Amino acid sequence: CGIVGYVGKQKAAAILIEGLKRLEYRGYDSAGIAVLQGGQIDIAKKTGRVENLVKEAARHRFTGTTGIGHTRWATHGGVTDANAHPHASSDGKFALIHNGVIENYSGMKKFLAGKGYAFSSETDTEALCNLIAYHYAKEPEPAPDSGKSRFFESVRRALMHVEGTYGIAALCTDCPGEIVAARKASPLVLGVGDQEYILASDVAALVSRTQNVVYLKDGELLHITPGEFSIITQNEEDVDPVVDTVSWNI
Ligand code: GLU
Repeated sequence: CGIVGYVGKQKAAAILIEGLKRLEYRGYDSAGIAVLQGGQIDIAKKTGRVENLVKEAARHRFTGTTGIGHTRWATHGGVTDANAHPHASSDGKFALIHNGVIENYSGMKKFLAGKGYAFSSETDTEALCNLIAYHYAKEPEPAPDSGKSRFFESVRRALMHVEGTYGIAALCTDCPGEIVAARKASPLVLGVGDQEYILASDVAALVSRTQNVVYLKDGELLHITPGEFSIITQNEEDVDPVVDTVSWNI
């Protein structure tokens, strides 16, 4: 339902939670955040109001400056803490948030279970998270002069097998300061701030931090790295980003 992402110099957790509160008006049944810190991904997620997540998050020591957050409106799997996003891959390397529906998730899940990936939720989203981990494990480290990223390539390849709709954002434990995001029939907008990037499914979540925004189009993937971002299509064409100014206050 709602997506937020942060890469910058500030602690991510408070910014993500503020963004999620600004998305509450859209309706949701659960909320969660994942923060990358110390080479690991730490996840807090809870059914109910964002306030429940705030209490849960206080028990974690969130200090990292890269993270993603989600408000869920359940389509696949009941309203439980385990089904709330972010989801982690069973090897612990990835966290994923997702708006939309992965139509072919059950075939994906069977394939991945056969490869040894384990599932701890009933969601379609967790299948895609493990599919990204599967591609990452298969993907050779790209040559240093290729300009390619193994993290980005794994998400791009996984999405080639997806039928359905998605706005997604992913973290990888090997890539501090990075988020890979993509969209198909589900909105995503990047806020370009002062030494920081804020990703969201709705400008309402980011206008308090920046008014410079780049709207992603269907079939585009976004790679945020510290101090830089790039947009590439699913077919590997470079996209020249158009930075718009949002001129309204909240
Ligand atoms: N299909 C996903 C789920 O049920 C995402 C739902 C959403 O868009 O919030 O977990």
